[in-house]
Parts: sequence; C-alpha cells; structure tokens
Amino acid sequence: MAQIFCIANQKGGVGKTTTTVNLAAGLSKVGQRVLVVDLDPQGNATMGSGVDKRKLELTVYDVLLENASITEARTRAEKAGYDVVGANRELAGAEVELVDLERRDQRLKTALAAVANDYDFVLIDCPPSLSMLTLNGLCSAHGVVVPMQCEYFALEGLSDLVNTIKQVHANLNPELKVIGLLRVMFDPRITLQQQVSEQLKSHFGDKVFNTVIPRNVRLAEAPSYGLPGVVFDPSSKGAQAFVEFAKEMVERIGKL
Ligand code: ADP
Ligand code: MG
Repeated sequence: MAQIFCIANQKGGVGKTTTTVNLAAGLSKVGQRVLVVDLDPQGNATMGSGVDKRKLELTVYDVLLENASITEARTRAEKAGYDVVGANRELAGAEVELVDLERRDQRLKTALAAVANDYDFVLIDCPPSLSMLTLNGLCSAHGVVVPMQCEYFALEGLSDLVNTIKQVHANLNPELKVIGLLRVMFDPRITLQQQVSEQLKSHFGDKVFNTVIPRNVRLAEAPSYGLPGVVFDPSSKGAQAFVEFAKEMVERIGKL
C-alpha cells in the first residue's frame, strides 16, 4: 500500500514543486515505486518531470471530475523514473466546477485508492493556497511534508497550515498528520537562517527532518531541461541532499 503525502505550504515559491519532483526522483533512485500527482494549475511538477502539459490528453482535472481513472490519466516520466498524473491550466476551472458536486473533497482519495498497490509513495504537489484542490490533496493523504525557507515570517505562515491540517484531521481525514518540516534553500552563511532553523527544531522537535536542502543553482536550472535536479546533475550538492532526504523518508516511514 502506497504512503500518500501532500507537499504543501500555502506560500508560493517556497520549494514545494522542487521538493516533489526531487523527492520523487530520489525515492525512485533508491528503488521505490513513485507516482507524482500535480495539483497545481501551473503544471510545474508536470513540466519539471519532463511531461509536456500542453500535450496531455488526460490530466488530474479529468480525474477530479471523474471523467478518467488514474490508470487512464497517468503517464510515465521516463527519465525522471516515476509516473505522473499531470496538470495544466484547465485545472483552474475545477475549483468552481467542483463546488456543486457530491463528495467534492473526496474525489482524489477515491481515485487513488484504485492504484494504491501500484506504488510505494504517492507525492501530491499542492498549489500555493488552501483551496478545494489542496483540500482534495489533504483528504487523500496520510501525511503532509512542509518545505520551508528559514526566514523571518516562516513560522507565522506555518500556523495557518498547521490549523488547516488539524481541522482536516478532526473533520474529514483522521489519518492525516504532519510527517515533517523540510528546511529548503538553506544558506548556512546567513545568521538569520541558522536562528530560524534552531527555532524550528526547538518548536517542532523531531518533526523537523534531519536532512537540510541547500540553496543550489543546479536545482533551479533543472526544470528548464525537463528533469528533476537529482537526474539533471546527480553530483550537485542539491541532488545529493534530495537523495539523502529520500533515504531519510524511507527510514522514517519504516518507523511510523
Ligand atoms: P513552489 O512550488 O513552492 O512555488 P518552487 O519549487 O517552484 O516553489 O521553487 C521556487 C523557485 O525557487 C524556483 O525557481 C526553483 O527553481 C527555486 N528553488 C527551489 N529550491 C531551490 C534550491 N534548493 N536552490 C535553489 N533554487 C531553488
Ligand atoms: Mg509549485
């Protein structure tokens, strides 16, 4: 049975998509079977996995509206080493179209149940909002991985997300928990980042992953080649950190 995780943080540009595709590629490298679900209409996880969002016949939009199953909508991201259910701009309409439908927050969960045995991990790349799309992600998942930059306002934004997770846990998905906080784009030379990192550890203890993802330009360059950084430049510091993170994740799941 797959472990299903949302990669979520309601802020944009914090590293959700980079974490999704590189954790997926890292997990694939250590022998795990992985599905990435792109829940962001920007389709960055789709493109960053080497799947052209403009050429997709079926996307997660069709899955949410129950026009297609995951088995029909998934494609193989050959070079990245995992499967993808892609997204494109069409998905922006789902928000409105789902409003009047039954079980509107449970659509993805139902769809994923059919492929749970095909994978060890399902990673859901969430949009930068706490919308109906994100809610579908949170209702489907066993846990949430929160990438965050160690900046001054990081902790403030975190409390909104933690409250949402608590509400979803209480009302919609009793399985949901925070798997961990991942420090990303980290620059140890910046004192403030070290301080926030220490604060995170004292607040959240072992919910903070041991692995730290450094700021690394190869991770930022990789998407324009349609590859996760882990595949684009395996020897880069960023790629190595994500492979470490994948190993830490596999270990952590063994202990859950
Ligand atoms: P989100 O999905 O949360 O909006 P992204 O993963 O798209 O965030 O990251 C935002 C930007 O930061 C992108 O241009 C990405 O390439 C860059 N980026 C993410 N992580 C790193 C990193 N560790 N080092 C350098 N650049 C990064
Ligand atoms: Mg993104």
